[in-house]
Amino acid sequence: MTANETANRRYDILFEPVKIGPVTTRNRFYQVPHCSGMGHRYPEADLYMRQMKAEGGWGVVSTQETEIHPSSDISPSNQGRIWDDRDAERLKELTEAVHERGSLAAIQLVHNGIHTANRLTRIAPYGPSDMVVDVEDPVQARAMDKSDIAAFRQWHRDAALRAKRAGFDIIYVYAGHDMTLLQHFLLKRHNSRTDEYGGSFENRLRLFREVLADTRDAVGDRCAVAVRFAVEELLGADGLQHDGEGRDVVAALADEPDLWDVNLSNWSNDSQTARFSQEGFQEEYVSFVKKLTTKPVVGVGRYTSPDAMVRAIKTGVLDLIGAARPSISDPFLPKKIEEGRIDDIRECIGCNICTASDNTVVPLRCTQNPTIGEEWRKGWHPEIVPPLARPQSVLVIGGGPAGLEAARALTQRGAEVTVAEASREWGGRVTKEARLPGLATWARVRDWRMNQLRQAPNVELYLDSPLTADDVLSYGIQHVAIATGARWRTDGVGRTHRSPLPFLNGDAVVGVDALLGEGASALVNDGPVVVFDDDRYYMASVLAEMIALSGRKVTFVTPASIVAPWTEHTLEQRRVQTRLIDLGIDIIPLHQLSGLTQSVLTIECIYSGRKREIACAAVVPVTARLPSDRLWHELAAVSDGWADHGIETVERIGDCLAPGIIAAANYAGHFYARKLARAIVDGCDAYR
Ligand code: ADP
Ligand code: SF4
Repeated sequence: MTANETANRRYDILFEPVKIGPVTTRNRFYQVPHCSGMGHRYPEADLYMRQMKAEGGWGVVSTQETEIHPSSDISPSNQGRIWDDRDAERLKELTEAVHERGSLAAIQLVHNGIHTANRLTRIAPYGPSDMVVDVEDPVQARAMDKSDIAAFRQWHRDAALRAKRAGFDIIYVYAGHDMTLLQHFLLKRHNSRTDEYGGSFENRLRLFREVLADTRDAVGDRCAVAVRFAVEELLGADGLQHDGEGRDVVAALADEPDLWDVNLSNWSNDSQTARFSQEGFQEEYVSFVKKLTTKPVVGVGRYTSPDAMVRAIKTGVLDLIGAARPSISDPFLPKKIEEGRIDDIRECIGCNICTASDNTVVPLRCTQNPTIGEEWRKGWHPEIVPPLARPQSVLVIGGGPAGLEAARALTQRGAEVTVAEASREWGGRVTKEARLPGLATWARVRDWRMNQLRQAPNVELYLDSPLTADDVLSYGIQHVAIATGARWRTDGVGRTHRSPLPFLNGDAVVGVDALLGEGASALVNDGPVVVFDDDRYYMASVLAEMIALSGRKVTFVTPASIVAPWTEHTLEQRRVQTRLIDLGIDIIPLHQLSGLTQSVLTIECIYSGRKREIACAAVVPVTARLPSDRLWHELAAVSDGWADHGIETVERIGDCLAPGIIAAANYAGHFYARKLARAIVDGCDAYR
């Protein structure tokens, strides 16, 4: 037996079938319900994305939360709907596609209770008690009376029957994420009823128990009934605790469901980013569950390593490896493990651009997998890129995410590819950013692509090769992709200051690029540092953290009302702001820059204009970036001569065209490779 075969046998346990009530999954890979941003508005897109998971070997493929009734209308969010038979007909196409690929289809039924304002249907929301809903709207939920409770039970039962007719194998009863009526009834902080549905633990559990029994009664002959339950809310005594009522619920219902799908609540705790948690981070909370039930248990924890998966099973923590993000980042993860292609796994980096897509109501986007969400719209497959009709040669300039992904996908298409990178390391911005606190996993963007490129016979890779326009012309390669990236501005221009700030000059101004290159030692002046954030995503907070960890006093100034507001979409904002507070960083929101002398920074309130002064030996403006596009302009200036040198096309891609997030650069590189020598432009004809 070869070393490779021995290693693969180690993972055999992951490919054992598991019986779940009346159905059996072919292996232990379980794509748990996750939002897609597609839902009822783009059902074909959702179907194509889910069927790709089945093709990639996930034994169970689940829908996202699927509203059972118009009183659970979570508009404008794009969740699933099974309000009536027409919705079920659409979902039938999904179950058929999943079945054709050998997987089981699961549906997560939901009534969102007080987690909805019913903006579309205008129905007064349903809750255990009279209370304000937990979304932003000035809307209150009604306290459900007995007839409301009876109606809700009937809706859930009807939805389960529709789901069964639609062909689902596993039907969920969902009490998690602080987003569902069943959990709302269970929680003391939401339930102040004095009847048999409130007060004691058994009373608060009653509706959950009843709906579970209703569902089993309705569909249990053919379908497995799964419970998705949050065993821990990380709220201390104010919430469910895995060694308190979270545990009591599992003990009370032990063998009633066919499957326990257990996790943390709310969503920001369940889907923690790599900045704040490690692979397998939920194990300490969910490991008790298997001791209280004989039924299979599935859990999540950003598992991408097959060894970690095997360990979770062998140590009796889980029976099934649940995944949302790892299945988005690599829909073919199970197949790759089965085929012993461990190094081909495109590991999730834990950045939550995927959750940000759902939170901004667009189909899934992913930093690692540029094809996710594009399976239907653009017909993209994560593993297959169509070959070129004729041989083509391509010079890719710049080895950051855009350049590496373009080169990688071009090698798949059969192009002859040359990649030139000016510096002595691959990865561009991800290599630098991965050195910042909490961002080490971001290097996976580089590592996966470099590993693929190193295996490709049709690419030449050159480090330490800063190319000039003359170089490019002299090589005479057919196609040139300029992926030379971007640089951070130091003049303060961003969302708030739209023109350069004349006082931002001298050695007190330290740019982001200097800090990315040299770390905190780029701060040559001793004394307090001000980080000015008008970028509003992660960079300023991570730099502030790095500088504070180096022992300096840091003040964080931002025109926004909170630190890093865009990280609300990545579910990190509370943790980001808490971390800065814990590090002793002073946070001054709602202020812009107004002046700088040798040791004093003047800032002003964005509303009142009132000024204040803060001691400052160095200021770090984190506002916006400028494309590093000099090479492009030099080549554009001699475009008349391209043909004479055998050059057919020259294009800018990624940050060099327009600075953006890493996911956008990766997508730009991928799109470039797909469209090379094809009649596709970045416009309507690229879309369905
Ligand atoms: P993106 O996110 O668009 O991929 P990055 O900034 O991460 O952009 O990467 C751009 C890369 O291009 C950097 O590693 C940089 O060193 C490289 N680069 C910039 N100018 C040149 C050049 N003239 N020749 C070769 N490489 C270059
Ligand atoms: Fe993972 Fe980031 Fe992709 Fe989400 S967007 S699946 S967190 S790599």
